[in-house]
Amino acid sequence: MKKKIALVTGGNRGIGLAIVAGLARTNEFKVLLGSRSLEKGRAAAALLEGDIVPVELDLADRGLLEQQMEAILAEHGTIDVLINNGAIMREGTVLEVSAEAFEESLRVNSVAAFDLIRLVAPGMEAGGYGRIVNVSSGWGSFNEGLGGPIAYSVSKATLNAITMVSARDLPACIKINTMCPGWVRTEMGGMNAERSPEEGADTAIWLASLPDDGPTGGTFRDRQPIEW
Ligand code: NDP
Repeated sequence: MKKKIALVTGGNRGIGLAIVAGLARTNEFKVLLGSRSLEKGRAAAALLEGDIVPVELDLADRGLLEQQMEAILAEHGTIDVLINNGAIMREGTVLEVSAEAFEESLRVNSVAAFDLIRLVAPGMEAGGYGRIVNVSSGWGSFNEGLGGPIAYSVSKATLNAITMVSARDLPACIKINTMCPGWVRTEMGGMNAERSPEEGADTAIWLASLPDDGPTGGTFRDRQPIEW
C-alpha cells in the first residue's frame, strides 16, 4: 500500500517530535518533519527510525512559508495529513506583553495554521482524502477559563475557531479537529509537567488516522471530545 504523506510543523522537538516518531512507527506514513531550522530538523530526524524527511518550514513569515510549502508540494506531492503543532508561548498580562509579541503569537500559533490549511486542502480535496490536526491547549478554551498568558490563550482560542469554521467550509473527505495534549514535559511545558511527549502526542496521532466516519470540527483530549 502506498504510504500517506504527513507533515508535522515544529517537528524537531517536544510533542511535535513525538508525533513524528509515532506516525513513522506505524509504517503507514512518510513523515515530513517541519522545522524552521533545517539543521535542527536533520539532527532530530537522525535520532529517529522510519521514513522521515526533514523539511524547512518557518511559521513566522507568510511569504517564506508559502515559498517553502510550494517547494515541499513540488517535491513530495499532495499532503494527506497536516499536523499544525509548532507554537510559541509569550508571557505577560494584557498590560505587560508587547504588541509585537501578541501579533507574533497570533501569526505563529493560529494564522500559520490557516495559511497551511489553505495550501494543502485543494490537494486533499483532489485526492478525496485529508486529515488536519490542530494542536491547541486547554488554555485556549473558554470553557476552561482561557487560563494562560493573553497572547497564547487568544491564539489558541483562535486556532479552535479556525478549526470549527474550516470543518464547515471544507469538503467531507477532509477531517479537521483540534486537540489538547495535556500538560507535557517539553521546553514549553517545563520539566514538572505530568505527561511525557509520547503521552501528549497520542490524541494527535489518533486524529491523524481517523476513519472515514470519524469526527470533524471537534476538540479532543485523551481521545475524548471536550467543550471549549
Ligand atoms: P516546544 O516549545 O517544546 O516546541 C515548540 C516547537 O514549535 C519547536 O519545534 C519550535 O521550533 C516550533 N516553533 C516555534 N516557532 C516556530 C516558527 N516560527 N516556525 C516553525 N516552528 C516553530 O513546545 P511543545 O512541544 O510543548 O508544544 C507543542 C504544541 O503543544 C504547541 O502547539 C503547544 O502550544 C501545545 N501544548 C503544549 C503543552 C505542554 O504542556 N507542553 C500544553 C498544551 C498545548 P524551534 O526548536 O526552532 O524553536
